[in-house]
Amino acid sequence: MTYLDTALGRVLTPRVAKLFDALGPRTVGELLRYYPRRYQEPGALTDIGLLEPGGHVTVLARVLSATIRPMRARHGFIMSVMVGGDRGETLELTFFAKSRGALRVHESRLVPGSQGLFTGVVDEYRGSRQLMHPDYQLYGMDGADEASALERASRPIPVYGATAKLPTWRIAASMEIVLGTLRSGEVPDPLPDPVRRRRGLLGLYEALRFIHQPADEGQWRSARRRFRFEEALVLQTELARRRASVLARHAVAWPQRPADRPGILAAFEERLPFRLTAGQEAVGHQLSDELAGGVPMLRLLQGDVGSGKTVVALRAMLQVVDAGGQAALLAPTEVLAVQHARSIRSLLGDLAEGCYLGAPEASTRVALLTGSLNAKDRRQALLDAASGAAGIVVGTHALLGDSVQFAQLGLVVVDEQHRFGVEQRDALRTRGDAQPHVLVMTATPIPRTVAMTVFGDLAVSTLTELPAGRAPSLTHIVPADNPVWMARVWDRVREEVDAGRRAYVVCARIRVTGHDLPAGSGGDDEGFDDDGADTVALDQAGPAPRELRAVEEVLAELESMPALAGLRIAALHGQLAAAEKDAVMTAFAAGELDVLVATTVIEVGVDVPQASTMVILDADRFGISQLHQLRGRVGRGAAPGIALLVSSAAQGSVAAQRLEALAATTDGFALATKDLELRREGDVLGGAQSGRSSSLRLLRVLQDADIIEQARDDAVAIVEGDPDLASHPVLVDAIAEALRGREEFIDRV
Ligand code: ADP
Ligand code: MG
Repeated sequence: MTYLDTALGRVLTPRVAKLFDALGPRTVGELLRYYPRRYQEPGALTDIGLLEPGGHVTVLARVLSATIRPMRARHGFIMSVMVGGDRGETLELTFFAKSRGALRVHESRLVPGSQGLFTGVVDEYRGSRQLMHPDYQLYGMDGADEASALERASRPIPVYGATAKLPTWRIAASMEIVLGTLRSGEVPDPLPDPVRRRRGLLGLYEALRFIHQPADEGQWRSARRRFRFEEALVLQTELARRRASVLARHAVAWPQRPADRPGILAAFEERLPFRLTAGQEAVGHQLSDELAGGVPMLRLLQGDVGSGKTVVALRAMLQVVDAGGQAALLAPTEVLAVQHARSIRSLLGDLAEGCYLGAPEASTRVALLTGSLNAKDRRQALLDAASGAAGIVVGTHALLGDSVQFAQLGLVVVDEQHRFGVEQRDALRTRGDAQPHVLVMTATPIPRTVAMTVFGDLAVSTLTELPAGRAPSLTHIVPADNPVWMARVWDRVREEVDAGRRAYVVCARIRVTGHDLPAGSGGDDEGFDDDGADTVALDQAGPAPRELRAVEEVLAELESMPALAGLRIAALHGQLAAAEKDAVMTAFAAGELDVLVATTVIEVGVDVPQASTMVILDADRFGISQLHQLRGRVGRGAAPGIALLVSSAAQGSVAAQRLEALAATTDGFALATKDLELRREGDVLGGAQSGRSSSLRLLRVLQDADIIEQARDDAVAIVEGDPDLASHPVLVDAIAEALRGREEFIDRV
């Protein structure tokens, strides 16, 4: 039991300690890690005559009178102290308390004639200005002479996240108590000394003092930098350790076939209807080499929507199949899994007809395994996976179920990683004796340092170009309340269909419920929200919720719209039965439907080259990356895509800024960065920043890129030199603390 573990109630009064419950800290150690949100610059002493309501001020004054009286409306007492300046100006100080006794401290000190500095926020009450619960320091009393009181008044004032009952000045006072008795030996430093010295960072003891009680701006800035570095190092060390432990395991090597004994991969490449981009080639070589080695691959492949990641992954899968192994492809939704299976089968043609009469000798089978298969199909798929007959097994995360056995799983490809958590990744890694190679794909481009922070255990490859001949899609914002523009939207859909193309109409939810619930929650038996996962919640702080357009309602409306008369329109959403979803998707892909009214179930990966137009209703309720994903569904063929974002967002709102960013660029990387800028920092790493013992309090993944990179280098070196971290017990503790109950903090962007 160290001082840091001491309950606050034993150091502060139990009442104050209890007030801290709402803010998180329960122990001395946790309180010390409760950093100020910002600092108020002290500024010169304020002239009492010039006080502005709302300003944080420090005034030099003399107590003129002090009175205590019961409050009229409420239970409790109010102490009112008049203070005056040199030139006869006066100011009222007010203190409230439940009991008279609680005011006794002030009463005994703020006696007429005493002089000192009073600090607080100016309030206007019934036409006169006052300071509520000011902090104060009296000359000759608080062990302070005028000079030291002035010195103190010139310090930056820490401002803590506070509650009404526990205002920031009281938190500062508690900090003073705790820091007052803290000795340097009581705060072991998670930062290894050599690292700290090399990076020119403060030691923990000093940094704690500087962050809570800075003498000047330089002190809190250097303390902040140190704590940011510490957060980055803790996280990066954990990621480096994970990566090292996977790399220490062995993986089966899956060498490419020699040219004189070609297999499925060679046959596949021969019939590929297009040329690979330079990026696809380069990443292809990288993957091929890694698969051929005995070190497990752990790679993130990121590339904008439509950059052709699937082909790259398929080539890697075929290399494994050619060498006698199996590959699993995991998709985040059933719709996407079904589509992956379909498109892989069609890309492979008769190469995917293994075991059938007349199939080429070098061929395999593609099994599809999702949560909604009937018993017979499921048994067959399981059998194909277990026997090895299926070289490629495509599925949703149902694939992770324990009942699924593979004969020789060599490669796991995870599509659209942003929907998968670390735990699922881990479950795959530890399947079977040997470690399968892992390739994770994401179309949500991630700025480098975010990738480092969130996927720091993965090496990163990036496809930067789109295949040639792709017409870039156009994005327009349409005000929902402008009937002329809206009519134009539907005319445009009509024109596209008349020209032989197809359209999506995206809605934020499935049906009108009277409540603004996100679409499709609970629709799938997969536990994933195919629909609207993070759609509606985004703008909670926005204007009063309005009814969102719903698939069923919009479908009926479009069906009766003269402009669209005769078009074949259908609905697609997560609550349809799997077979029905599949039938609708197939009909749309085959051109038997013209318009699909859908939820965000079509967000990821759906690939219908003839679809050229997408109308997104209530677009202001979607996030940037989601809209970017959605519009990536059109313009995948020769015809340029057009996305019409129907919005009710007020000009200048964050939602409007998101849409404008989308209309201005198709560069997914630029958008991802913009997205992060527009979000509050806390959203970047999920809930990691709120609550007790959270791990990232100060670190900002965008602005602190340099810190994250340095910490990453140091972490890799630490783990290399000491894989078990045996000589870094304090760092190990810090990691455990950071991970406690919140593994998800490295789960998702
Ligand atoms: P994403 O990276 O979004 O998953 P896909 O792999 O689905 O992209 O590819 C998008 C479309 O582009 C698919 O229809 C695919 O067949 C096609 N494609 C992939 N690579 C090329 C290429 N090099 N040239 C032309 N078309 C390509
Ligand atoms: Mg894809």
